Amino acid sequence: MPEASSVIFSFADNMKGELYARLWDAYDKLEYTERMMLAQRLGFCFDCRSTFYMDYDDLDEYGDPKKKPIKPMMYTDIATDHEYSSANTAHNKCEKALDKIRKAMKNLI
Ligand SMILES: [Zn+2]
Repeated sequence: MPEASSVIFSFADNMKGELYARLWDAYDKLEYTERMMLAQRLGFCFDCRSTFYMDYDDLDEYGDPKKKPIKPMMYTDIATDHEYSSANTAHNKCEKALDKIRKAMKNLI
């Protein structure tokens, strides 16, 4: 019989996997602009979903680019990027998108 702690860890791992899968599922159902804005606001790559990027302007002692966390964007910058007149519009759109994700996750937890 496996130890209780390993059972709990594997349960937690499965839960985590399931939650991530549902989360990205809900994210994928958002409109293109909503997905783009959430990536900017929360600080992850729109293409590969990584929360890091390679900084080719900042090399380590081996000449390799340093891995850095993607900085979350301010609502004002997101608004400018999407040609909205105010940061508030960007804020509201992000909140609406997050609400859709919250609703999709609600029955799970
Ligand atoms: Zn990427």
